[in-house]
Amino acid sequence: MSLFTEPRRFPLDPPRHRGWLEVICGSMFSGKTEELIRRLTRARIARQRVEIFKPALDTRYHAQDVVSHNHTSIRSTPVQLPSEILLLAGGGTDVVGIDEAQFFDESLVDVCRQLADGGTRVIVAGLDMDFRGRPFGPMPALLATAEFVTKVHAVCVCCGELAAYSYRTVPSASQVLLGETEAYEARCRPCFLAGEAAQPLRDPARQGAAGR
Ligand SMILES: [Zn+2]
Repeated sequence: MSLFTEPRRFPLDPPRHRGWLEVICGSMFSGKTEELIRRLTRARIARQRVEIFKPALDTRYHAQDVVSHNHTSIRSTPVQLPSEILLLAGGGTDVVGIDEAQFFDESLVDVCRQLADGGTRVIVAGLDMDFRGRPFGPMPALLATAEFVTKVHAVCVCCGELAAYSYRTVPSASQVLLGETEAYEARCRPCFLAGEAAQPLRDPARQGAAGR
């Protein structure tokens, strides 16, 4: 694994192209939010104007903060729709951070493009796959259109390998299920598949039902 470092901007070299999109993706417990907070904190140290947003439905810990599992946190603004980010971040914001991006609808992709086109550094963190291992919400299009992509990994709770899957430990077929520490564990591919095989009835797709 290599350590991601931010794209360099030399102080004596005025940037000609300021805006771009970075995506931090991975499973639950992979450190996505910690990495987002690390980058945003560094931007603040560089005296850049930083705004952070997250979907209003993600109220696991605190409505105002982006909070990661190790309890580092940073002030954020909950929004219902991606279009609110354009309104709230307009005018002089250097860096826009967006956490839990998988919960936004597809319009987030165009919002991120508009921000980056307009000169903003956009850093998006989110789950790349849902609990069935399928691409999650707007994440595939964000990954495709980003200049920089970082996939972070958790550790498989079964075998200790690198984990890319969020295995749901409770019987629910809903794509969105909050309260993750009790309901999910990080697993590698073989351990994820073994778990799925052990409880096939909780997944409607495996019974022929359509939709999520
Ligand atoms: Zn494993």
